[in-house]
Amino acid sequence: GSGDGETDIHRLDDDTVARIAAGEVVERPASAVKELVENSLDADASSVDVTVEKGGTELIRVADDGRGMSEADLRTAVRQHTTSKIEGLEDLESGVATLGFRGEALHTIGSVSRTTIRSRPRSGSRTGKGGEADVGTELVYEGGEVTSVEPTGCPVGTIVEVEDLFYNTPARRKFLKTTATEFAHVNRVVTRYALANPDVAVSLIHDGREVFATTGQGDLQAAVLAVYGREVASSMIPVDADADDLPPGPLESLSGLVSHPETNRSSREYLATYVNGRAVTADAIREGIMGAYGTQLGGDRYPFAVCFLEVPGDAVDVNVHPRKREVRFDDDDAVRRQVDAAIESALLEHGMLRSRAPRG
Ligand code: ADP
Ligand code: MG
Repeated sequence: GSGDGETDIHRLDDDTVARIAAGEVVERPASAVKELVENSLDADASSVDVTVEKGGTELIRVADDGRGMSEADLRTAVRQHTTSKIEGLEDLESGVATLGFRGEALHTIGSVSRTTIRSRPRSGSRTGKGGEADVGTELVYEGGEVTSVEPTGCPVGTIVEVEDLFYNTPARRKFLKTTATEFAHVNRVVTRYALANPDVAVSLIHDGREVFATTGQGDLQAAVLAVYGREVASSMIPVDADADDLPPGPLESLSGLVSHPETNRSSREYLATYVNGRAVTADAIREGIMGAYGTQLGGDRYPFAVCFLEVPGDAVDVNVHPRKREVRFDDDDAVRRQVDAAIESALLEHGMLRSRAPRG
């Protein structure tokens, strides 16, 4: 009816609100993997082992040897908007050093899956009668409810197991692609972090098969070798440019590795680019890289690249959309020219470009 005081508008119940919000943070298995790996790196882990089954739709397990959590920490960590990483907005404005800070990942993942977390703090761990007890805590979090908390024996660090992602959000589950596609996304995420953290041993296992494992003791070249194999690693040359070497623009430095033009693929997923330490994609960076290779790559072919860019914090806004890796610069054109110049001169120096007419 349309009588006064009647309305069709009503407040959604909390459970519905939580599941809708969850779909925005965790779109697919790879987004859960990203959040969990970021948590492990933020916890100062020196090893991060990622195991997934069926592209992550059945199981995602991320095990680290980071600082771990006490029982009290663990109970708090799975609640909404709980974080140990920032206190307030001031911290955001002065720049956040950690990968996470929104305090929503564990809560959200646990509201759309059956999640089990086992954790034991690195120091100050709970002490038993005879000195230090090797006791951790196992917390089960299903569909947004903590269903059990028990002491458990486990190594120092944290193991998060996410089973049956989206079991209670069938619409979201229906949108998942094939195992191969979901796994490709997972692989790309883990690869990005492995390449950016050669000092952390990162491994990835899919359906019982080891996809790669870095040693955690090498440099970028060693990480590339572990992740992409010998053929690609041996074709990579270093790029190392700072402001003095670059045309004018916001870029303060660009370092990393790029491949010989003949080592290329038909997918741009092998362009691993980072701005101020965060894995991102940006049209300006991709176009700069492609510009440097010019016509030496056939149509729709992309080189391998692992490039770390440093720009002043105010030249790029990485927080515009936390869940999207795409960033823009204030001056995209200048960044494109700078990236192009840095990579072109590295390729020229290594005799990897046929001479070409100067551009007008
Ligand atoms: P955020 O990372 O934004 O703080 P999360 O929901 O991802 O939010 O995690 C909540 C908190 O749980 C973190 O701030 C951290 O204190 C703790 N935590 C999560 N994962 C780990 C981990 N692997 N090791 C140690 N502490 C963790
Ligand atoms: Mg987090």
